Amino acid sequence: MTTQQSTFVITPVPAFKDNYIWAIANSTGDVVVVDPGDAAPVEAYLAKTGQTLKAILITHHHADHTGGLTQLCKAREIPVYGPPGNHIKGITQSVLDGDDFTLIGTQFKVLALPGHTLDHLAFLMCMPVSPFPDNKFSLFCGDTLFAAGCGRLFEGSPEMMYTSLLRIGALPEDTCIYCAHEYTLSNIGFAIEAEPDNLHLMRRQKRESEKRHQGLPTLPTTIFEELRTNPFLRCHSVSLKEQVSARMAQELHSDLETFVYLRRWKDQF
Ligand SMILES: [Zn+2]
Repeated sequence: MTTQQSTFVITPVPAFKDNYIWAIANSTGDVVVVDPGDAAPVEAYLAKTGQTLKAILITHHHADHTGGLTQLCKAREIPVYGPPGNHIKGITQSVLDGDDFTLIGTQFKVLALPGHTLDHLAFLMCMPVSPFPDNKFSLFCGDTLFAAGCGRLFEGSPEMMYTSLLRIGALPEDTCIYCAHEYTLSNIGFAIEAEPDNLHLMRRQKRESEKRHQGLPTLPTTIFEELRTNPFLRCHSVSLKEQVSARMAQELHSDLETFVYLRRWKDQF
């Protein structure tokens, strides 16, 4: 057990209907935001907290993750880290898989996780965060993994997405995961259809429903939680395979095939 007090706090800034813009703040009031789809809630957050925006991280090109960039950067000169390719206006630092950089006193490692889009990145923050002082890692994974679900395949192949999800699933189990949308309850509804015998899912549904009734976010989640309740990380499960096979009238010969038809089922759900 560590006695070190964490000096970082991560706050969800709600945007649109169900987006979260994540704000990572250090003890001196410097802050990095992830995927500011809208500038107004970020400016309101900065005004309310008195924090200073030092940098922006972008996971992928969709407008609900990038729409606030121009406005936020008009008011201040700050670096914007994101995918290479010049297709996202406002990125000043293109980063690739394996890159790392330091901002506001913490290191971030870059993971390329194609599938939802081809340019999709995630950022792994390598410092403990309050109130989880024993957790070393926090992952900002945009629309790749959601609590009990995963993003749609708009650009990448199923192989790409499944490989990306397995990379997330291989992180240390106490890694906190900060997804970009509050989809948890509807994802759990589908997950229970796909794995009706999974008791972890039943318990999770109750827990997450209580949070939503109190107006609280269900995030962050953890790798530990997702490995037990996220069907897209459980394509090896025999009972899940049987459910997918029966529902989609397909013989399934691999975990990847299970993923393909599970995703197709979810798209129709
Ligand atoms: Zn997206």
